[in-house]
Amino acid sequence: MTANVLFAGRADGWPTYEPLLKAELARRGVEADLRTGFAPEDVDYIVYAPSGPVSDFTPFTRLKAVLSMWAGVEKIVPVVPASVPLTRMVDSGLEQGMTEWVVGHTLRYHLGMDTHIRGLNGRWHRHVPPLAKDRHVTVLGLGALGTAAAKALAALGFQVSGWSRTQKEIEGITCHAGPEGLKAALRQAEIVILLLPDTPATENTLNAETLALLPKGAKVINPGRGPLIDDAALLAALDSGQVGHATLDVFRVEPLPPEHPYWAHPNVTVTPHIASETRESTAAEVIAENIRRAEAGEPLLHLVDRSLGY
Ligand code: NDP
Repeated sequence: MTANVLFAGRADGWPTYEPLLKAELARRGVEADLRTGFAPEDVDYIVYAPSGPVSDFTPFTRLKAVLSMWAGVEKIVPVVPASVPLTRMVDSGLEQGMTEWVVGHTLRYHLGMDTHIRGLNGRWHRHVPPLAKDRHVTVLGLGALGTAAAKALAALGFQVSGWSRTQKEIEGITCHAGPEGLKAALRQAEIVILLLPDTPATENTLNAETLALLPKGAKVINPGRGPLIDDAALLAALDSGQVGHATLDVFRVEPLPPEHPYWAHPNVTVTPHIASETRESTAAEVIAENIRRAEAGEPLLHLVDRSLGY
C-alpha cells in the first residue's frame, strides 16, 4: 500500500525538500505519495514544523507518526495527540553546525579575543591565555548535540564536564547526573554551555542559586532554549560580575523584543537563534528512514518520550 506523506513544514522549504525526500524514500524502496495537501483522513505521516500549516491534528484520524523537522519539540509535544508516535530531528548537519557554533564561542572566551577586537589603544598589555588543558568547560545536556560539542571541546584539549538526567559514560568527559551532579558540574565551570531541552524539569536550570555556584567571572553560552535561564538572575549575576559575559542564541520570547535589557547589556552577545539549523539533505535521510521503519514495523529512531517532553 502507498503511504501518504504530508509535508507540513514551511512552504518555502517544499521546493528543496520535495526532491530530496522523494529520492530518499525511493532509495529505501518505500512506496509513498508525498504532497503538501491531502484530505486529513487520508494522511499516514506528517513531516512537521510548528511554522508550517498544521496546528490541529484532530482531523488526521489514521496517522501512523509525526516526524518533527525540529530538534527541540517543546511546541510540538503539546499539540500532537499522545497516541501518535512523535519523532524529533537528530541529524548530522545539525550536530556539525552546533558543534562549530559552540566551539567558536568557547574559543572567543578562552582566548580573550574581545580584548584585541576592541583594541589595546597603544598599551602593550600581554595577557597570554592559558592552554585549553587548563580551562574547565561544562556542557549541560549530553544528548545528540551536547555530546557532539563536548567531544569536540575535549578533542581540543579542554577539561570537559557534562551533565544529564541519566548517568552517562563518555570517553574524555567527566559525566555528572541529577541535582547533586549539577552542583559539581557548575562549581568548576569557567565556561558553561546549555544544550538541554525545554521541559518543565529544565526550566530555570540556571537561576540565582546555581549561578552562584559558578567560579566568579564565568561565561555562559546558551544555544539550548530561553527558559533554561532565569533572565532576571542572569542579569543580576552579570551586573555583579559573578558572570563575566553571556552569549545567548535563544530567548523566552523570539524575536527578542527591542526593549529587552539583553540587547543593551555590555556583557551580553545576542545571536538570533542561528546556532544550528536542520540541514535539508541530512534531515531528509532521517525522515525517510523513519517512514521506512514505520512501514516495515521496525522501531522508530529518535522517538520523543511524551512523559519527559523530549
Ligand atoms: P537530546 O534530547 O538528544 O538531549 C537532551 C539532553 O538533555 C540529554 O542528555 C538529557 O539527559 C538532558 N536532559 C533532559 N532533561 C534533563 C534534566 N531534567 N536534567 C538533566 N539533564 C536533562 O537533545 P539534543 O541534544 O538533540 O538538543 C538539545 C536542545 O538543543 C534541543 O532540545 C533544542 O532545544 C536545542 N537546539 C537549539 C538549536 C539552535 O539553533 N539554537 C538547534 C537545535 C536544537 P538524558 O541523556 O539522560 O536523557
